[in-house]
Amino acid sequence: MSRRSALVFIGFMGAGKTTLARQAARLLRGPEAVDSDRRLEAQWGKPIERVFDEDGEAAFRASEEALVCELLDTADGGVVSLGGGAVLSPKVQAALERHVTVLCEVSPATAWSRASGRGRPLARDRDAFAALQRDREVVYERLADAFLPEGERDQLGDALGHLTALADAPGLRLVWARSASGHYPVFVGRGALTSVPWPVAGRRICVSDETVAPLHAGSVPGLAGLVEIPAGEQHKTLVTAERVWRAFVAQGATRADHVVALGGGVVGDLAGFCAATYQRGIGVVQVPTTVVAQVDSAYGGKTGVDLPEAKNYVGAYHQPRAVVVDPELLATLPPEEHAAGYAEVVKTALIAGGALWEHVAAGHPVDDATILACARTKLAVVAGDERDDGGRQVLNLGHTVGHAIETVTGYTRLRHGEAVGLGLLAALTLSGRPELRGEVAALLAAAGLPISIEGVDPEAVAEATLRDKKRLGDAVPFVLVEAPGAVRHGQAVSGDQLRAAVAGLAG
Ligand code: NAD
Repeated sequence: MSRRSALVFIGFMGAGKTTLARQAARLLRGPEAVDSDRRLEAQWGKPIERVFDEDGEAAFRASEEALVCELLDTADGGVVSLGGGAVLSPKVQAALERHVTVLCEVSPATAWSRASGRGRPLARDRDAFAALQRDREVVYERLADAFLPEGERDQLGDALGHLTALADAPGLRLVWARSASGHYPVFVGRGALTSVPWPVAGRRICVSDETVAPLHAGSVPGLAGLVEIPAGEQHKTLVTAERVWRAFVAQGATRADHVVALGGGVVGDLAGFCAATYQRGIGVVQVPTTVVAQVDSAYGGKTGVDLPEAKNYVGAYHQPRAVVVDPELLATLPPEEHAAGYAEVVKTALIAGGALWEHVAAGHPVDDATILACARTKLAVVAGDERDDGGRQVLNLGHTVGHAIETVTGYTRLRHGEAVGLGLLAALTLSGRPELRGEVAALLAAAGLPISIEGVDPEAVAEATLRDKKRLGDAVPFVLVEAPGAVRHGQAVSGDQLRAAVAGLAG
């Protein structure tokens, strides 16, 4: 009989791998967690820092590789935590393949505060330590089946069932999402809808639109009901919401049931809002079917509907119970909707900087790894500021002008993503970054997105921008870009600058 997968905790120094692994082993009521560093110390008969100092790193790495490969090859279930550098070995990487690899994420500041001053050989110089973390993170991220953000120790019990389920779903990845009001699993991968047990208990009532439902509702397992709404932004209204609430009543939905929001951002926002308000709140599982929704709107719990006067003016924060992201659902998405989603990918890459920006700036198409990276970027931003009081506002990059363009064109002329692309260009003009604007314009144009717009009155767009709900007093705070990865929210922009930037979008 083949051996069972173990849960293997990896990550940088100071990430808390040992503690998390011990806690996981306790919660699983199995044997104690195995810690590769402690085993190596026992084998060498001295602390690792002395092995480094007296025998050298190469000798340490050779014995580490042999011991870790042996541990992973013979593991039959259980929990293992690995030293931060162990996974650099290709042999260890190969041995990890049959296990569930869980990355314990840690910020550079926390890692340094925990690891420095303890004689650790690789934590003596802060710059070298930070560079090492950057280099290793690329490897950790490639190997990880699951991503546990920093500070999740008290949530491990909730995450554990989902982590162990990954053993039966090769290729599927899990990001543990957290925010002040809730935490939930995000599954990303082909076949995600059926490859793990449905993550939430209770009856599932699906809300979808008339285009998506016939294509994909049959792929959602075990639906107890289906509510179809007309497709399109013009139906993201209270009138549609009332229809959905009443359909819930007709289907006997109770607080023990949950909504499955199957569709793009319109369905996700509207069904999420209906779930947030029906009987004062029932659960929702987001199943995004557009690029916009898979890279952005399905995460973070913003739900709502539009008013004729302005977009997303009525809504609620309502974190999903889970998000199930299956990139295969995008196979039926029309090319122009793929393109619209690409604008959100570019926006997210500008916010993230680093490897994601490099990947996108190189002109790569949106692949599964890009979707995962965008999801992680958005979730990390939301984790720091769920209710848009500060850092989350960076996600509005390109949206302030984008929403205003959508409003003055009556939500019908442009797709949301198309408007966001134009908004990004306006934001980069306002940021005083002409080369970056040129680079982004070239990416958007190559994806078939508009980079100019005829017949939109800059005055009307400026006025609509000033009505933006994020207005604080008399100023609309703008999100501006210093460089990819360095995006600032709350930047004051004058009305004249705004009009000029919008006028610059005329073809
Ligand atoms: P959408 O939901 O209108 O979907 C676009 C079109 O594609 C629709 O006609 C839909 O029927 C169709 N479609 C969806 N999935 C399909 C599939 N797999 N195959 C074939 N057709 C498919 O638009 P969108 O771009 O996904 O979302 C835009 C909305 O998202 C806006 O209302 C915006 O405000 C909202 N949004 C919300 C957030 C958030 O944080 N809540 C973030 C970004 C955007």
